[in-house]
Amino acid sequence: MKLENSVIIITGASSGIGEATALKLAKHGAKVVLTARREDRLEKLKKKIEDEGGKALVVTGDVTKKEDFETIVSKTLETFDTINVIINNAGLMPLSYVEKLKTDEWNTMIDVNIKGVLNGVSAVLPTLIKNKGGHIVNISSTAAYQYFPGGAVYCATKAAVKMFSEGLRKELAPKYGINVTSIEPGAVSTELTETITDQDILDKFSDMMNMTTLESEDIAEAILYALTQPARVNINDIHVLPSEQQ
Ligand code: NDP
Repeated sequence: MKLENSVIIITGASSGIGEATALKLAKHGAKVVLTARREDRLEKLKKKIEDEGGKALVVTGDVTKKEDFETIVSKTLETFDTINVIINNAGLMPLSYVEKLKTDEWNTMIDVNIKGVLNGVSAVLPTLIKNKGGHIVNISSTAAYQYFPGGAVYCATKAAVKMFSEGLRKELAPKYGINVTSIEPGAVSTELTETITDQDILDKFSDMMNMTTLESEDIAEAILYALTQPARVNINDIHVLPSEQQ
């Protein structure tokens, strides 16, 4: 697929992997739709993209709200006429041991990490089907393959995203030419750990992160690779780990 002038919605674009991906794809000529809840961050990113000659639209929204996605899609169509790609990247990782029963945090992770992806897919799918093509990229994690301390619920949400992506690909790629990719990063240096409230995990985590982690740019590069293959090529999964991660 050629990125030049393709219209790409990126959720969780206000920081980390989403922000780096928006910058990279805009540099390659894509019109990027930046969405998340923090408007100031998104506006700053839009300005940076436009200063570099790119095109961007900001639509704030919460991925857990279907009505917010309706607005994201309608404003995208109004501004850029179509949608070619969605990158379902928004996510949270408030790790905790199950016995702490932080059930509100479990529910938030299920709402954002799983339902947020389902909401994104359901919002754009009618347009992709009408276009008979496109690409859905879901950000899963190496957590889909392995448990790490305090990750019982988080890992479950990322395994759900990976398996949902596989089902989507089987249903959509042969019938409509809509490719689907699950991206599975290991530790990336971002703000993701800032939602952790369990002190036992925070203590452990600083040891775990005592290695050279990936940069958001590394994951943006993997997404760029998946998106720029010929339409006949579906990159199902990309599992990227820091060299030092076990
Ligand atoms: P960040 O915390 O930097 O980014 C998370 C993004 O998600 C933010 O832009 C945030 O924006 C957005 N977000 C959170 N909740 C919502 C919501 N309810 N509605 C809309 N947007 C929301 O972390 P990363 O860049 O690391 O995370 C991006 C993805 O990568 C996540 O899905 C994460 O699970 C995954 N991942 C990250 C890894 C890592 O080591 N960092 C490893 C493997 C996977 P805002 O607060 O403005 O709404």
